[in-house]
Amino acid sequence: MKTPAKPKATTSSIAKDTLTTAAKPKRASKSAATDAKSTTKSKATKVGIVPKLSPVDQAIQNHLIFSSFKTNAAATPRDWYDAASYTIRDHVVERWVKTAESYYRDDPKRVYYLSLEFLIGRMLSNAALNLGINKELKDGMSALGRDLENTVEMETDAALGNGGLGRLAACFLDSMATMDIPATGYGIRYEYGMFKQTIENGQQIENPDNWLRYGNIWEFQRPEVTYDIKFYGHVVCGEGSQHWVDAEHVVAMAYDMPVPGYGGDTVNSLRLWSAKAAREFDLRHFNDGNFEQAVQERNDTENISKVLYPNDASVLGKELRLKQQYFFVSASIQDILRRFLSTHEMKKQADWNILPDKIAIQLNDTHPSIGVAEMMYQLVDVHRLDWDFAWKLVVKIFAYTNHTLMPEALETWTVDLFGRLLPRHLDIIYKINFEFLHMVNHHFPGDPELLKRVSIIDESNGRRVRMAHLAVVGSHTVNGVAALHSQLLKQHLFADFDRIYPGKMTNVTNGITPRRWLNQANPGLTALLEKAIGKGFKKDLTQIKKITPLANDAEFRKAFAAVKHANKARLAAKIEQKTGIKLNVNSLFDVQIKRIHEYKRQLLNVLHVITLYNRIRNGEKGITPRTVIFGGKAAPGYWMAKQIIRLINDVAAIINEDVAVGDQLKVVYYPNYEVSAAEILFPGSDLSEQISTAGTEASGTGNMKMSLNGALTIGTLDGANVEIMEEVGEEHIFIFGLTTPQVAEVKASGYNPYDYYHSNPELKQVLDMIANGFFSIEEPNRYQPIIDNLLKNGDQYLLLADYASYIETQDRVGKLYQHQDEWTRLAILNVANMAKFSSDRAIGDYAKNIWHVKS
Ligand SMILES: *Cc1c(COP(=O)(O)O)cnc(C)c1O
Repeated sequence: MKTPAKPKATTSSIAKDTLTTAAKPKRASKSAATDAKSTTKSKATKVGIVPKLSPVDQAIQNHLIFSSFKTNAAATPRDWYDAASYTIRDHVVERWVKTAESYYRDDPKRVYYLSLEFLIGRMLSNAALNLGINKELKDGMSALGRDLENTVEMETDAALGNGGLGRLAACFLDSMATMDIPATGYGIRYEYGMFKQTIENGQQIENPDNWLRYGNIWEFQRPEVTYDIKFYGHVVCGEGSQHWVDAEHVVAMAYDMPVPGYGGDTVNSLRLWSAKAAREFDLRHFNDGNFEQAVQERNDTENISKVLYPNDASVLGKELRLKQQYFFVSASIQDILRRFLSTHEMKKQADWNILPDKIAIQLNDTHPSIGVAEMMYQLVDVHRLDWDFAWKLVVKIFAYTNHTLMPEALETWTVDLFGRLLPRHLDIIYKINFEFLHMVNHHFPGDPELLKRVSIIDESNGRRVRMAHLAVVGSHTVNGVAALHSQLLKQHLFADFDRIYPGKMTNVTNGITPRRWLNQANPGLTALLEKAIGKGFKKDLTQIKKITPLANDAEFRKAFAAVKHANKARLAAKIEQKTGIKLNVNSLFDVQIKRIHEYKRQLLNVLHVITLYNRIRNGEKGITPRTVIFGGKAAPGYWMAKQIIRLINDVAAIINEDVAVGDQLKVVYYPNYEVSAAEILFPGSDLSEQISTAGTEASGTGNMKMSLNGALTIGTLDGANVEIMEEVGEEHIFIFGLTTPQVAEVKASGYNPYDYYHSNPELKQVLDMIANGFFSIEEPNRYQPIIDNLLKNGDQYLLLADYASYIETQDRVGKLYQHQDEWTRLAILNVANMAKFSSDRAIGDYAKNIWHVKS
């Protein structure tokens, strides 16, 4: 053990997170803590530093003038949004300060949620709701002659994520704050979030999402909280230690966003890192008159936090992506250790033993898994702990959430790229791997194949670093995100690890926050529920069970159906405004909104739409009028997904224009699916399409939002659908298709899609129409590649195998919809049984079983 080095953070003088007071408060002893309010010695521990806030309408008026420098006459709708946001933000900050102080004073174990994505959406209405001042806000705005709904619409979504994984992180932040768990989210402040999608000539067009153009009232720049991040260079061996030298330096600067919990006083933080050049520009070049080169280096470094990769469930192995990962992970871990060291003195190595009692780090997928190596780097190289000692700490700190079984989504980096960018970390990973394989060999002697399979370095096709293996080896707990997914993880992807580390693999089924996805998105249903069972369900969703008997109450069903109808009318108005398509609000709103991916099988839905179209053209009677709504973005480089979008729009164009169809069938592509769109789409849905091939969707959370808003599910036994079925009862959900074991069987026994094509005339007709250019007259071969995928190339996702079952089930859906009262009864029972899918339950599981933290 060497002398413990001082923390080397560039911010060594900045001990606190949100308080700018320079004085470092003394850590209060237990007796002093109870008396904290009367402490006057230190300003930072004194709670009364926040002045009393004005009434909301007065505050908005003042902010319009003093924060935006606008008179009422000159104010634009955006100015009013700004003034309202500043006002609500003041209330948030009041509690934020107190929360930060209480954490500092009480020194609880903290949870750090590391995620490359946080799909948080809009802040204003959510903050007002969680603080319980949404009524004051609405009244305040109307006192000023402004409409709150229009004002809220001025806010650009914070779309710092692709889809489910990023939205999960946002729901978890909400739950952690609501449950008073001392937690911080760490991520990247992308200058450009998820691209904005428009549909032109039926095709997806990607437009940059310059979400910061008008500023962001909800973030606080912290120019004093910066860390030095190194890349490239090489390693030299010193006396018993390694040194990373000649590296390039980038500065990570913190931006904090508040995360207000619901109905309490806790406001946690989301800390996002922005890349800044270590030097403004190179004066040598500048003085030589070489101005472009002078700023070149600066631009290159700042590119690190420029854009979110718009890829979902696939990996592209780009250097900039690995840079992003290391950049935010290194900054976060330096910040975590700095916070720890600012309140704990480490005199000798053994003092560090409390580190895992004070911090828990959750890795949201493998994207931040380099954190395992970075923590070793910080503890061993920077803080000079012994390797073995440090490793024991690391494994007690980290836990890893796996989000996918699909091979194309498992991150690996070539050893070449990794070693060039992070030479010291590659050495660290080699050493971790050496010791891990040594341990495996000791417990499972004479099994070289096992060693090859579990090694962190894949030697089978060029040498690659397997990030999932690093995450598993470096974590005390690994979880899947739904019961089925976790079971499949143990059986397949991590079967070897399950043998090596019995008990390390566990399950935490995902959840969604009822605040945003019920209370905020569906005020009509919320009011109805409040009247029936009180307000308690918002913070404790188990109470929603109490509406079960009301499913048999005709009066309640009527009221419930009226709420659904109003939400559908709201959605229909939005759709007409966006697409010009007029909808029949009494038709069945059949909705599939999620990323466009072959495994999610939007194409299967299209096959059903065309089947219905053919039946209508054949004059078949008694078909339930439907509006089929699609929404979702395709990764810009995912050609097949973009073809599927185009096909949907081509099919829509033909069907919507066909006078013989009229009101019986309409097809809508809702452009630019994002959180704020989702808040209108879920409450306006009757039918929830969750039709992925069994064994491919890890969990799904859209399925949960749908049910909670009173839609019935048509779905496969995949992801969390399985648990939704268990909760709501088999007779209240439409399950179809092959199960996971059946999928494996069908594939193993020589699946031939042509068998289905030739034996099912309706299916054959549908595929022939697409193949012959019925929907693409100007380019008849346009969809040949789609047809080839289904017929010639093996139909990887088994659409044809599931087609008949899907159609038959959709027929039952249509029939049931004609019995509105029975449909509504089932919808109520769906809502009543959603308690399990609250993210509060999920966070409760993490807190108890993985993080070992209390509220
Ligand atoms: C919930 C949500 C998702 C995830 O939907 P899945 O159906 O689970 O894939 C994606 N994007 C947004 C905007 C969401 O709100």
